[in-house]
Amino acid sequence: MKKSQYDVVIVGGGLAGISAAAMLSDQGKKVALIERGKLGGRAMTINMKGFQFNFGAHAIYGRDQSYLTRMEQDLGLKLYWSDFTQMKAKYDLGEEVSVVPSNIGGLLQTKLLKGMDKFRFAYHILFTMIGFEKGDPNVSIKQWLDRKKVSPAVKEMMLNLASSNFFTGEPEKIPSDVFFGYYRRLFKTNIPVSYIQGGWKKLVEQFVHVIESNKGEIYTKNSVESVTIVDDKVTAVHTKKTTFMAKQFIFAIPPEELKRLFQESAINSELEGYTDYEPTYVMFYDIGLKKRIESPYTYIFDKDRQIFISDISYYDMEAAPPGGQLLQAIAYLKSNEINDPKEHERLKERIEDFYDKHYPGWRKHLVIPRVSKVAVVQAIKWTMHQRGLPTSFPQLPNVHFAGDWCQGEGQLSELSFSSSYKVCQRILEEEAARRGA
Ligand SMILES: Cc1cc2nc3c(=O)[nH]c(=O)nc-3n(C[C@H](O)[C@H](O)[C@H](O)COP(=O)(O)OP(=O)(O)OC[C@H]3O[C@@H](n4cnc5c(N)ncnc54)[C@H](O)[C@@H]3O)c2cc1C
Repeated sequence: MKKSQYDVVIVGGGLAGISAAAMLSDQGKKVALIERGKLGGRAMTINMKGFQFNFGAHAIYGRDQSYLTRMEQDLGLKLYWSDFTQMKAKYDLGEEVSVVPSNIGGLLQTKLLKGMDKFRFAYHILFTMIGFEKGDPNVSIKQWLDRKKVSPAVKEMMLNLASSNFFTGEPEKIPSDVFFGYYRRLFKTNIPVSYIQGGWKKLVEQFVHVIESNKGEIYTKNSVESVTIVDDKVTAVHTKKTTFMAKQFIFAIPPEELKRLFQESAINSELEGYTDYEPTYVMFYDIGLKKRIESPYTYIFDKDRQIFISDISYYDMEAAPPGGQLLQAIAYLKSNEINDPKEHERLKERIEDFYDKHYPGWRKHLVIPRVSKVAVVQAIKWTMHQRGLPTSFPQLPNVHFAGDWCQGEGQLSELSFSSSYKVCQRILEEEAARRGA
């Protein structure tokens, strides 16, 4: 069996692992990145009939506050952004549409809140922004809203916003501290949503470029099958053909894989706490059209059906061939819908109806659909019983964890980037401290 020695071995080549490998190799560390499939993990872009289908939208929320932007600056990534036009984001209210009140401009224009409720909502936003409203880890957002006797319209508004930002059909279960932490960031941003031109593929290519230019090694189609632990340290990970030894290890693989690899270790019982974790599931239904269907909005959310459509090609010029259009519909799945084929069919029909309503004639222009009935949009679903995995445990100090199932900031890929950024900082700081000592 081949044996190689590194400073840091990173297991898992999704956005968390690949960004960690880029940051550490950029700092002169000898790294190996091991991925069992293709790089990108859930963030992939597939070209079908000239349409760039992303496995999920490549929207980055609050990029001016984000860890991805820090990485972009630290690593000199060449990314081209297109920022979301806030006033083109609408709620479908049945008979009419209204602006999504996720900033002050939207708030003044929205038809969802009337009279005093607009001021009440503005008051909550202001309190969240200046940091007075922190929530309570033991209280769900629904309990919090009930206790504060928030008016029904404002309550509904806040839960709807949570639904679309946390990709969940059950926003009432989100812990109130997570909810307010998220909105504190979002309301401070000047750029609520942005798209990366060229999709996830462009971002992955940029990280790979940094790793390769710093002589980092990338092993795809290599699954880590086991780990060697001596005393309180992981000393090596093993694929079928190679043993990778290192001083530090980052595991950017989902909890069920971690439990398998660490079942004999001192952190087994810690990981057990995450055994029952439930991901956030969605159904997505993308359509590639040969001709654009013009619409006054680029994002439309139906709160009753819990579905939204984004006009991806409006923001990402590379998403559709010239003159064409790529639309993406996402429906949040409730717990009872995840394993029920009848529910999947029902949801698919609802999405088609929603397309009919807002993009009439789409069937005539359809070149290619892409449907995923059950997709993991985030590896953790925020509920009172589920919290992100810590990024390290004292029992194994040279082991670090990153991914969108870990404790971090923001939601979705920002959880992957923030946890990855933090573990890299920790590794670099610990090493600097050792050298200084
Ligand atoms: C429909 C949809 C829409 C989305 N929209 C957005 C959006 O608009 N904005 C946003 O920010 N995010 C979005 N996301 C979420 C985003 O895709 C994820 O948060 C992000 O890609 C997670 O990256 P990760 O590295 O944390 O995890 P993963 O991508 O799951 O990476 C884990 C990697 O580990 C590898 N692995 C597992 N076990 C092993 C092993 N034993 N050995 C080696 N490798 C292993 C896996 O193959 C995988 O590549 C969306 C996701 C979906 C599905």
